[in-house]
Amino acid sequence: MKTIMKNLLILAAVVVTVLLLPRFVTSNYWLNLINLSISFSIACLGLNIVLGFAGQLSLAQAAFWGVGAYTSAILTTQLGLPVWAGMFAAFFMAALCGVLLGIPTLKLSGHYLAMATIGFGIILQLILVNEIWLTKGSDGITTIPSPWIGSLELKDPGAFFYVAAVSLILLSWGTIHLKNSRVGRAFMAIRENEMAAGAMGVDTTYYKVMAFALSAGYGGFGGWMFAHSGSHYISPDTFSFEQSVILLVMTVLGGNGSVIGSIVGATLLTMLPEVLRFLKDSYMMVYAAGIVAIMIFMPSGIAGLVKSMPLTLRLRTWWNADSRGGRQVGGGASPRGTYPGKKAAFQPEDCAGSGEVLLTVKGLAKHFGGLKAVDGVDMEVRRGEIQALIGPNGSGKTTILNMLSGLYVPTAGEIILGGAAIAGKKPHAITSLGMARTFQNIRLFGELTVLENVLIGRHCHSRAGLLASILHLPSQKAEEAGIRAKALEMLEFVGLKGKEDAQANSLPYGQQRLLELARALASDPQLLLLDEPAAGLNAAETEALVDLLFQICTRGITILLVEHDMNLVMNVSDHITVLNFGRKIAEGPAEEIEKNREVVDAYLGTEVGNA
Ligand code: ADP
Ligand code: MG
Repeated sequence: MKTIMKNLLILAAVVVTVLLLPRFVTSNYWLNLINLSISFSIACLGLNIVLGFAGQLSLAQAAFWGVGAYTSAILTTQLGLPVWAGMFAAFFMAALCGVLLGIPTLKLSGHYLAMATIGFGIILQLILVNEIWLTKGSDGITTIPSPWIGSLELKDPGAFFYVAAVSLILLSWGTIHLKNSRVGRAFMAIRENEMAAGAMGVDTTYYKVMAFALSAGYGGFGGWMFAHSGSHYISPDTFSFEQSVILLVMTVLGGNGSVIGSIVGATLLTMLPEVLRFLKDSYMMVYAAGIVAIMIFMPSGIAGLVKSMPLTLRLRTWWNADSRGGRQVGGGASPRGTYPGKKAAFQPEDCAGSGEVLLTVKGLAKHFGGLKAVDGVDMEVRRGEIQALIGPNGSGKTTILNMLSGLYVPTAGEIILGGAAIAGKKPHAITSLGMARTFQNIRLFGELTVLENVLIGRHCHSRAGLLASILHLPSQKAEEAGIRAKALEMLEFVGLKGKEDAQANSLPYGQQRLLELARALASDPQLLLLDEPAAGLNAAETEALVDLLFQICTRGITILLVEHDMNLVMNVSDHITVLNFGRKIAEGPAEEIEKNREVVDAYLGTEVGNA
C-alpha cells in the first residue's frame, strides 16, 4: 500500500471517530470527562517530549498547565480578548516560563531540573493564591468564556469536543513528525547519551531548553482547554504538585516516549476513577492497586506492551511492507579488498593526502587537581595521513582526544584545526568544523535503531528547525531524504547494510564498534579520532577494521588513531606519537618508533618484530 493511501486511511478513521463520538455519547457528564481527558492528553504529550524524548524529568507540568489556564482566563475575563487569542497567549506564556526556568537549570544534570520544577510549581501556587488583584486568589476565576466560531458559541461540551479533538489530532500529528525528525532525534540522542550527542554535533543545552519550552507550551495549551470548557472555573489548588505527579504517572503508564501512549495513559487515568465509582469506598484502593500492577508488569507502559504483542508485530510488518522499497540505496556494495597483512600492499598515494598540516596541538595540558594527565604535548597531524597516538594505560591518550573533541577544556595550550583555534569550544561546534570521533567505551544511542544512530551523525549537516519538523514541511522532507541516503551509504560502507532497523544495543560488540564508526563518518569529518577501535575485536574483525581504515583514508579523511594493538598500529600508521605520563616521549614514522629505545623501554617492552 502506498504511504499516501495509508495516511488517508488513518485520517478517514480518525475523522469518522471524531464525527460519530458525540452522537453516541450524549451525556454532558461524559462529554466533559472526554474533554478533560483530552486536556490532560495534551499536557502529557508535552511531558512526553521533555521526559520521553529528551529524558529530562520535569515535575511542573501541572504548573505549566496552570500558567496556560490562568493566562487565557485573565486575558479573556479581564481584558475581554477573544478566547482564540487566549489560546496562543497560553501556549507562548507557558513556553516562555519553560525557557526562563530551563536556561539556568538545564545546564545541570537531571536532578537539578526536577528540583527546580518542583520549586517553580510552589512559586506559581503562591502567586496564584496571593496576587488577588490578578488571579482572584483562592476564590479562583469564574465564568470563563467559551470560544466562538463566527456567531456560534462552543459552550456545549459536545461542540467544544470538536475543538479539543482537532487540537489533539493536530498536536499528535506534529509530535509524531517531530519524533521522526532531526530535532526529535537530537532530543532522543540527549536522552540516550548526552556526551555522545554533543560529540555528534548536537548543541545539548539548546535542545534541552527547546524540549522543555515546547513541553511547557503543550502544558499551557492543555490548560487553555481546561479553563474554557467544563465548569468554566479555575482555582489554584487544581494546578498542584500532586497533579504534576498524576500527569507524570499518566505519561509513564501510557509508555514513556510514545505519542499514542501518552494519550492512552491520560485517557485511562481520567476515565478509570469514574468507571470504578460503583466500588464506592474501596474504589481508590482498586485504582491505586491497578496502577501499581501496570507499573510492575508493564515496565515500558501500555505502548510497550502493545508493541511487543505478536499481533502488533505482524500488523507492523504488513504496514511497513512496501514503504521499505524506497529505503534501499542504489549501486552495489563498495569493493572490499582483503587485509593485506603488510603496509606495503597499501599504496600511500591511494590516500588523498597533500602533506599539509590539518591539526596542530601546541603545549596542550590537562590537570585534574594535582594529576597532570596531559602535560605540554605538541603534535601535528597531516592531511590524508593515519597518525597513531600510543602509550601505556593512563598516559593521557583519551584525555587528549577529549580535549580535541571539546569534552574537556584544556588547562593550557592551543588546538588548531584547519586554521581555526578550537581549544575550549563546545563539542558540537568542533564537530561542525569537521572533526568526529568514536569512544573507547562505546557510546551508542542504545535504545535507538542502527539507522537512527547514523542519522544523528548527520545532525550538523542538516538545518530543519522545530517548526519545519513539526509541520513536516517539504524542505524538511527533502533534507530528511538526503540524510537517510547518506546514513544508508555509511552503513553499507562499514558493512552493516540490512541492520538498519535493529536496536543499536542488540548488536554484537564488533558491530557496535562499526556502527559508532558509521555514525562518526556520517558527519563527513576532515579528521576522525578513533579511541581504541580494535579493543574487544577478534582477529577477523580486526583485519576487516584495518581494511576499513585504509578505505576511510582513501576517501580523503585524516585519522588520528589511539590503539594498543601494535601490529595494527605499525601496519596502518604513517606517523606515530608516543606518550608516557602525559608527555610526548617520541614521534616519527612507524619504522623509527619500533626501534626507539625509550619507546621500547616505556611501552613496547620488546621490539614489535619479535613480539
Ligand atoms: P589513556 O587513555 O592513555 O589510558 P587517560 O587519558 O584516560 O589515559 O587518563 C590519563 C590519566 O588521567 C589517568 O591517570 C586517569 O586516571 C586520569 N583522568 C582521566 N580523566 C579524568 C577525569 N575526568 N578526572 C580525573 N582524572 C582523570
Ligand atoms: Mg584511553
